[in-house]
Amino acid sequence: MPDYDAIIIGTGQAGPSLALRLASVGMKVAIAERKSIGGTCVNTGCTPTKALVASAYAAQIARRAAEFGVAIAGDIGVDMKRVKTRKDAIVEQSRNGLTAALENAAHCILYRGHARFVSPREVEVGTERLRSERIFVNVGGRALVPPMPGIDQVPYLTNSSMMEVDFLPRHLVIIGGSYIGLEFGQMYRRFGSEVTIVEMAPRLVAREDEDVSAAITQIVEREGIKVRLNAECITLAKRGDDIVAGVDCTEGTPEVVGSHLLLAVGRRPNTDDLDLDKAGVRCDARGYVEVDDQLRTNVPGIWALGDCNGRGAFTHTAYNDFEIVAANLLDHNPRRLSDRIVAYALYVDPPLGRAGMTLAEARKSGRKVLVGERSMTRVARAIEKGETQGFMRILVDGDTKQILGASLLGTGGDEAVHSILDLMYAKAPYTVMQRAVHIHPTVSELLPTILGDLKPLG
Ligand SMILES: Cc1cc2nc3c(=O)[nH]c(=O)nc-3n(C[C@H](O)[C@H](O)[C@H](O)COP(=O)(O)OP(=O)(O)OC[C@H]3O[C@@H](n4cnc5c(N)ncnc54)[C@H](O)[C@@H]3O)c2cc1C
Repeated sequence: MPDYDAIIIGTGQAGPSLALRLASVGMKVAIAERKSIGGTCVNTGCTPTKALVASAYAAQIARRAAEFGVAIAGDIGVDMKRVKTRKDAIVEQSRNGLTAALENAAHCILYRGHARFVSPREVEVGTERLRSERIFVNVGGRALVPPMPGIDQVPYLTNSSMMEVDFLPRHLVIIGGSYIGLEFGQMYRRFGSEVTIVEMAPRLVAREDEDVSAAITQIVEREGIKVRLNAECITLAKRGDDIVAGVDCTEGTPEVVGSHLLLAVGRRPNTDDLDLDKAGVRCDARGYVEVDDQLRTNVPGIWALGDCNGRGAFTHTAYNDFEIVAANLLDHNPRRLSDRIVAYALYVDPPLGRAGMTLAEARKSGRKVLVGERSMTRVARAIEKGETQGFMRILVDGDTKQILGASLLGTGGDEAVHSILDLMYAKAPYTVMQRAVHIHPTVSELLPTILGDLKPLG
């Protein structure tokens, strides 16, 4: 049985970096992957969706060309085959680069196959049994398929199978009005599909503040996306070639009839087929591996990184898990999960850049909160670009003067949020940014202005 210094299960956003880092210091490393190198982000998540979002943005700007004084004769057509080819090429480049890095690294062996635990120190990949004192689980997650009435009677798409779509669905019905559902919804509307988003909650992206949800709803509805909220009673059925989503418990028509159905109701961890029980590794009720502040599981010598530990659901959080583990193991640097500040983006157009607390969370924290806001209609760069939808909000702790959080919904919001995030990591008072001279004309130049006009939270 081959004996390794480290075994890594999964080649998502933490595993490959960890494998290469451990191998670079001379450790003998085995890394196992059952499907596509690079995991969700590279193959069915961030990379392809943002490539598709870019195609959809190009179509939208082309449709608006006349507003900018640009003449385009005829209708704007979208060639879905070429959209997919472009997306595939970007994905392939990323996957190939990572595959080559793993295959060519000294001391690193890439195993292709499904890995499962045999004991706390042994893992089986196909017919091979591997042994190590250190095992790192980076198995990620997959789309949740909820047990809705009729789900087994209808064909449905998930974020993975959407990657094979090279045609224009006539009417895409999306169950789930959160991050993934909204990105696909706006993208396919811009490609030319009719789109209906069906959401069980009373509002879209319910994790965000109510006015952020409302602004996003307005943005997508303006583009012609139909939104059905409070749909707690969804049933599914096939009628001829169509798919019927029954939503008779909400206002509006009792049925939404579409040509294709996309499920975007959340993710579940890939921990159900790992035989974690044979290693004695503990999971919570939803199947996420329980970890401590340094990503250690309850079994010494076994760590869990990335989406499967339920402590993050993003590429940057998975990568940060790698950084934490590597720093603790190799650098005598006690980096911790609890040092991480919440940050993410929602890639509708315009995007939402988020850092730290929402307004609702800040209110609940009991702190003395100061709030600064600005509509994107009062941002010069947004006006110049013709992209004035959305607004920016920054929250400050009135006692410590430190920034508590920000929601930047507007053009460039996904980039501008980083200067706020850096200030939060520096634990610097907001006055540092208030006095900084930012570049004109940018979205970021308004951040000091917002901070110069803070008001107590009412
Ligand atoms: C549509 C969509 C869009 C997204 N967009 C963004 C975005 O813009 N920004 C962002 O930060 N995040 C985004 N995400 C989330 C991001 O993709 C994930 O958070 C990230 O990929 C998590 O990485 P990971 O390393 O935990 O696992 P994954 O990337 O899921 O990788 C896990 C790997 O483990 C393999 N595996 C699983 N079980 C086994 C086994 N038993 N044996 C061998 N191999 C196994 C899997 O095949 C997979 O390759 C998006 C997700 C989706 C679905």
